[in-house]
Amino acid sequence: MLTSLLIANRGEIACRIIRTARAMGIRTVAVYSDADANALHVRQADEAVHIGPSPARESYLVGERIIAAAKETGAEAIHPGYGFLSENADFAQAVIDAGLVWVGPNPDSIRAMGLKDAAKARMIAAGVPVTPGYLGDDQSPERLRSEADAIGYPVLIKAVAGGGGKGMRRVDAAQQFDDMLQSCRREAASSFGDDRVLIEKYILSPRHIEVQVFGDKHGQVVHLFERDCSLQRRHQKVIEEAPAPGMDDSTRENICAAAVRAAQAVNYVGAGTIEFIADASDGLRADRIWFMEMNTRLQVEHPVTEEITGVDLVEWQLRVASGEPLPKRQDELAIDGWAIEARLYAEDPAKGFLPSVGRLDAFDLGDDARIETGVEQGGEVSPFYDPMIAKVVTWGEDREEAREALAAALEGAVVWPIRSNAGFLVRALDHPAFVTADLDTGFIAREGDALLPEALPSAEALNEAAALFVQDQPLAGFRLNAAPCTRVRMLADGVPVEGEASGAADGGEPVDGDGVLLTEGGQTWRIAPYRATGSAGGAAADGAILSPMPGRVIAVEVAAGDTVTKGQKLVTLEAMKMEHGLTAPFDGTVAELDAEAGQQVGEGRMLVRIERIEA
Ligand code: ADP
Ligand code: ADP
Ligand code: MG
Repeated sequence: MLTSLLIANRGEIACRIIRTARAMGIRTVAVYSDADANALHVRQADEAVHIGPSPARESYLVGERIIAAAKETGAEAIHPGYGFLSENADFAQAVIDAGLVWVGPNPDSIRAMGLKDAAKARMIAAGVPVTPGYLGDDQSPERLRSEADAIGYPVLIKAVAGGGGKGMRRVDAAQQFDDMLQSCRREAASSFGDDRVLIEKYILSPRHIEVQVFGDKHGQVVHLFERDCSLQRRHQKVIEEAPAPGMDDSTRENICAAAVRAAQAVNYVGAGTIEFIADASDGLRADRIWFMEMNTRLQVEHPVTEEITGVDLVEWQLRVASGEPLPKRQDELAIDGWAIEARLYAEDPAKGFLPSVGRLDAFDLGDDARIETGVEQGGEVSPFYDPMIAKVVTWGEDREEAREALAAALEGAVVWPIRSNAGFLVRALDHPAFVTADLDTGFIAREGDALLPEALPSAEALNEAAALFVQDQPLAGFRLNAAPCTRVRMLADGVPVEGEASGAADGGEPVDGDGVLLTEGGQTWRIAPYRATGSAGGAAADGAILSPMPGRVIAVEVAAGDTVTKGQKLVTLEAMKMEHGLTAPFDGTVAELDAEAGQQVGEGRMLVRIERIEA
């Protein structure tokens, strides 16, 4: 067995690998870029080596530095994780040439599966059904168009070197073909340095079904059943589960056997995934499931397979890399229950899924689900890498149990001030089509807005927050036949809201005296009392311009005494790496000014007060 291991990756997958290695008594070495100097994976490893500046191109993708780090620290083996160098055959070869153990397949297997066209040709030869289409060498637009015409629309143009959902264009009619081909080629050239494409029949009602395979150095290959990854956004997986809903035993046997044949055809060693596309318009049928590609590495969604088989796939990888035979035979592997995984991203679904970066002031995913993460409260989400901050995984006796557990875990996810897709995931999991497993890869695009979470907390939640703020104050206001209540003005992440405080409050998490974090449906807001400042009362208080969130004043556009018009910019604030212009609510004069460029200001702090010009 190996005694030491360098992990050539970062984030959750580095932490995941370190966990198993440690349990097996293997010494771990992390590598890190500037941006990751304080990252969790660095602190979890026994040793860590700095390998360069923050951009991946200058650190995590520099093979020589990583091999040098292994040499320096006496690490025996390198685990590449996923992404980065994991499917780079030249790197795998360089690791082997340096006398180190590569935790992955032979470089030749990676090469054989690296380009989608060559891989498909190889699979056809091995008797694996592949998506109908054109794989030819003739890349002239005329030839490609006539092949597309012959296949019949819709078709999918795919970069042969593509990956990560990039370099794909669906073409619905012949007239669009030339434009789509051009734009696909442009993207392929810039992302993969290779503009060659293949053409596939676009499968309608497509479901993404993949099979986990495992090979050892003694020629054995087994499968660990299938996963369904049909819930995708822009061809990227969002929610994955195992087993696949609606898969009957004979169809399962059929595609798992095809996956094993595919792996055997390239003498596969280690963990790999055979991805299939299924036409599910008539349920899952073996004659309508085709090979799409092979990922020659550990997959992001491997935990759902671990949950239903009880196998630690990273442990298997390390045993196989050490030369041990596969720990189990095919007949010793079985499916137990159901598992679902959701990818938690630092992004804002309400803003077109814009990545959200910065400090994670609050981050708590609870204790009820399996959490795979590489960040923690107080850590940074940097703009340099993938915005996936965690995977949340649940297991149940059946699909419904796993689904409910996952939705519950995500509903309570506290992620702030960074935005996350937790609320979006909850809505997807609770959607009737997901509940009944009526799925295909177009689900998210189709449902779109229905999956976007609420912009503000519910009235009920705001009432509870209001109660927290008035707890020690006498109740004011009175309505006939109703409990006495106080209307409380508050700010929800800077947006003015109101709540009615009528009883004792429960829930809510006090933060620093005057604000609370409120989590509802997977969304978190900071609720603070709306404080009109001291001197002014009544109408004048409405002209108080408060800082909507903690930030820095970067420009003051007015001076005390100035006349301003409604909508005129008064102060520019920088918060969460974005600029926010604060403007005059009505025509008036600048009665008070308490802001200076460069100044740090807290949430709810008065910056300017505008006095209305009376008509
Ligand atoms: P999967 O089918 O497992 O999602 P992908 O090919 O889409 O596989 O990529 C695997 C994962 O690797 C992605 O989800 C992404 O998080 C990560 N990844 C891929 N390329 C990079 C990269 N260059 N830098 C950082 N992470 C990457
Ligand atoms: P990548 O290397 O980017 O992962 P894949 O070939 O695995 O590329 O395709 C990614 C996704 O695109 C699939 O999971 C599926 O949703 C969709 N897709 C791929 N091929 C087809 C097809 N022929 N018809 C319909 N959808 C497809
Ligand atoms: Mg794929």
